[in-house]
Amino acid sequence: MAKITLDNLAHSYNPSPQSEDDFALKELNHVWADGEAYALLGSSGCGKSTLLNIISGLLTPSQGRILFDDVDVTQASTADRNIAQVFQFPVVYDTMTVRDNLAFPLKNRGASAQYIAQRVQQIGAMIGMEAELDKRARGLTADAKQKISLGRGMVREDVNALLFDEPLTVIDPHMKWELRTQLKSLHHEFGHTMIYVTHDQTEALTFADKVVVMYDGRVVQIGTPEELFEKPQHTFVGYFIGSPGMNVIPAQVENNIATVHGASVTLSQSYTSLNGKVELGVRPEFVSLTDGEGLPVKVRRVEDVGRHKIVRAELFGNDINIVESEGTSISPDMNRIVFDPAKVNIYVNDWLKEGEAA
Ligand code: ADP
Ligand code: MG
Repeated sequence: MAKITLDNLAHSYNPSPQSEDDFALKELNHVWADGEAYALLGSSGCGKSTLLNIISGLLTPSQGRILFDDVDVTQASTADRNIAQVFQFPVVYDTMTVRDNLAFPLKNRGASAQYIAQRVQQIGAMIGMEAELDKRARGLTADAKQKISLGRGMVREDVNALLFDEPLTVIDPHMKWELRTQLKSLHHEFGHTMIYVTHDQTEALTFADKVVVMYDGRVVQIGTPEELFEKPQHTFVGYFIGSPGMNVIPAQVENNIATVHGASVTLSQSYTSLNGKVELGVRPEFVSLTDGEGLPVKVRRVEDVGRHKIVRAELFGNDINIVESEGTSISPDMNRIVFDPAKVNIYVNDWLKEGEAA
């Protein structure tokens, strides 16, 4: 297992990049702790696979270095990096049995027959394929083949890191949950450094200790699920995570007062001379409907989603979402909203701005 350092890393698929836009991966510097489970989260095309393939050695970065435990591996092959990687689509040897597919990485590294037999049995059980170990891979469903790929990724205990690139895409929803749970328990048992790529926030938040959020070729935040919820560093993190995501409202801010279309909102922090695009970010959970003082809203509809209600409303012509608890009754004269001041974040040009205590 290894600590992974990304030093001044960037990548362009264009051999002579002209501007930052030509970079699929914008410059980044990070240290990923040994033995942690990371999820790499972001929408399609934001650079997740590019980063993962640079870490595994499938791709050589156009700039910067990768270090495993302080050893520079930038030019080292995947095999030399001692990494297991599982891809979005199954990679299996069709003519081999499930058992031989699972045993392959161990045989390659010269493990004993006894160890291989015992380990393959164990992994077979984890992926729910004990009964099919002697079947040939050819003829199995895509789902089953992907489970074999996953199993093969997990079979070696001595890898530096385990990398998964959207490995559950072809798996049915129930099995998805099951396999994710298995991956988590594998992580607890062996403490591998794991990186799990996904575009699904639920998958990321349930799998990882730390979530790395990417947007447009950039890592915009690395944090625990709580940190991403409480203090999104970038407006993208705010609205990508949470359902519904954070409300982002254009505002003017001076000291501890935000002004939204002439109406003022008191903040818990104070800000001076903000320049650029200023916005107030507040999660629907920290907005309340009231029949008293507050910003005027027009309620469009109320969705009952079990544990809470989502109120879809309009604030000065823009959409705003409010989450109320299940027990709250919403009457027609509740046409104002208030924010929990401690939970309001201020963004300048999409990045979180910390204020001074007000
Ligand atoms: P993700 O995995 O987040 O969907 P990728 O890392 O695959 O994103 O892609 C990031 C960007 O790089 C995208 O704009 C994609 O079109 C581009 N890209 C990916 N692979 C290549 C390639 N081999 N050649 C050129 N451009 C590529
Ligand atoms: Mg990808």
